[in-house]
Formats: sequence, structure tokens, C-alpha cells
Amino acid sequence: METKKRDIRALTKEQLRNFFVQQGDKAFRGNQVYEWLWQKSAHDFDAMTNISKETRQMLEDNFVINHIRVDQMQRSSDGTIKNAVRLHDGLVVESVLIPTETRTTACVSSQVGCSLDCRFCATARLKRMRNLNPDEIYDQVVAIDNESRLYFDRPLSNIVFMGMGEPLMNYNNVLKAIDKITSPEGLGMSPKRIVVSTSGVPKIIKKIADEDVKFGLAVSLHSAIDEVRTSIMPFNSTFPLKDLREALEYWYSKTKNRITYEYVVWKGINDTQEAADALVKFCKFAPSKVNIIEYNPIDDGEFQQAHGSAVEMYQNTLERNGITVTVRRSRGKDIDAACGQLANKS
Ligand code: SAH
Repeated sequence: METKKRDIRALTKEQLRNFFVQQGDKAFRGNQVYEWLWQKSAHDFDAMTNISKETRQMLEDNFVINHIRVDQMQRSSDGTIKNAVRLHDGLVVESVLIPTETRTTACVSSQVGCSLDCRFCATARLKRMRNLNPDEIYDQVVAIDNESRLYFDRPLSNIVFMGMGEPLMNYNNVLKAIDKITSPEGLGMSPKRIVVSTSGVPKIIKKIADEDVKFGLAVSLHSAIDEVRTSIMPFNSTFPLKDLREALEYWYSKTKNRITYEYVVWKGINDTQEAADALVKFCKFAPSKVNIIEYNPIDDGEFQQAHGSAVEMYQNTLERNGITVTVRRSRGKDIDAACGQLANKS
């Protein structure tokens, strides 16, 4: 049945307190309910055991809790877990739990589908349906934190916004979600353990730099040569490298946070010394490091992982120039949970 009840988690704490005052109750009741909604992540009003039955019914009559539901959980042979997450309107996104010896990282989605058009990414083939709300982002994190406690006996330690969608095209809700995740009234996680990954939207990078944010920024660069980048990430023609560079310099001047560049080396696309030299040059504009990530094939072989020798060439070139570089192995490939593979296949 369709209802027009409001999403209670769209209210701020102050609004919730005011609501209770208007109902002739105490403002403090708002604090209690707020705690249930965020810190305790209640899925329904009946779970709020220190709230009277009548009040719970009153809340039920006025509001809904649009909690996400993990519809399906897949486990990779390497321990990676992929959640298919159903939203209140029936749409589905995916999030991934990536365990290492010492950490559990949550890779969360920020949009249903994606509005960008990176030619090597499976998510780009899904139409962008809508932005996720702050609580839908928060819930993905809570679900993975619970799974980490259950299967790995430890809480979640890190979060990367590298799931479906372009976080900076939904930055308002992403920032609100991060506020909740880092607040003591939410999960109380350190913003230093959060990385937002973007294809590079210069205007928004500057905007969030102005907001004095404390999380890390990763940029999916993949090429530091405009023509090449535009051919694999067509929106680069709207946001060329010169603008991106300027925004990143601004980001560093404001946040003093080193930038991470994500980079895949593909056969015949960017596996040349010239391309590596261009990357070195780009890295010098602002303090940065490079993560070379393995390509996860999504199609008929239009894109192919470059030879190991090309990756080594990149590594040597970067290191020779004093730039930190790490080469990352893919995780969760067997369940289509690796970078660029999230496409709601199941
Ligand atoms: N939209 C954001 C976050 C999503 S993707 C962004 O672009 O940064 C996370 C990373 O995976 C990005 O660096 C993206 O470029 C990369 N990626 C996309 N498709 C890939 C694939 N098939 N194989 C490996 N990495 C891929």
C-alpha cells in the first residue's frame, strides 16, 4: 500500500525534538528516538523498547523508517562479501566487504547506476536512476559493520566510496552520510579512515575542500593525457585535466591531504613510457601517490590488462621520481565484486 508518511531519518535531531514538543511530549524523547534511529540502527519502531507503546504507535502513524534490506549476500573464495541491497522503492545497489589480515573495508555505493560514462566500467552501463539518500549510504556501512563483526570478529575499520555511482555527483548526501558515520551519535568512525573516490568533478572538489572535510580523496585518473583520457572517460572533454589539476591543487592547499590517483594500465591505451611520464608530471602538481589497480574485464576484450612489464615500467618511472606507488590485486573477482564490476548481475 502506498503511504505518504515521512521518512523519519530525513529529520535532524532538532526537528525530531521539536516534533515531540509539538505532540505535547518532552524534547528528550526526540533524543531517545534519534539514538534508536542512528546509533542503534533500528529497523522498526517496535524495536524502541524504552519508548511507550502509544508513542511507538504515534510514530508508526506519522513516519516510516526506509531501512535498506540486504537481499542477497555472496562470498568470494578470498573472503570478500558482496551485498545486493534493496532500497525502499525496490531499486538495488551493491556494496562490498573487503577483508585483509588486519582491516575490514566497506566499499559503498552513492547512486543507483551512474551518470558518468567510463567505457571500462560495468556500472556505467546502468542508467543512473537516482541518488542515494544519506540514510541509505549509512545503512550500507552498518550492514557491513555487522557482517564484519559476525564473520571476522572485528568492527569495520575503513570505508571507500568506490561502489556504484559518482559520489561527487551526489556530494550533498555523501557529506551528510559521512557526518553521521563519523559522529559519536552515529558510528563514531574517524574521517581519516574514509576515502571518497571520484572521476574528477573540478567544481565539486573545490566546493568540498572549502567545507573543511577530513576524509581522503582518490581520483580515478587512468591517463594524464587529455586525448587518451577523453577516449576512455568521455566526460573528460567537459572537465579537462587542466581544470582537474587546478581543483586538486586547491584541495591540497585547503585540506593538506595527499591525493591518491587510481590508475589502470591497459594494453595499447596507456602502456607507454610517454603515458607514464605524463602521470609523473601530473603527480607533481600536488602531493600524491598512485594506486595501480588491476583491470577487471567486463566485456568482449576491448580493454585488456597491460603486460606485467608495462606495470613495472610505471612502477619504476614513478619511484625514480620519488612518487609512492602501490600495485593492487583485485579482490572478489569470482563474484563480480571487484572494481568496475558492480552491475546488479544477480
Ligand atoms: N565513480 C567513482 C567511484 C567508482 S569506481 C570513481 O570513478 O572514482 C572505483 C574505481 O574502479 C575507479 O578508479 C574506477 O575507475 C575503477 N574501475 C572502473 N571499472 C574498472 C574495471 N573494469 N577494472 C578495474 N577498475 C575499474
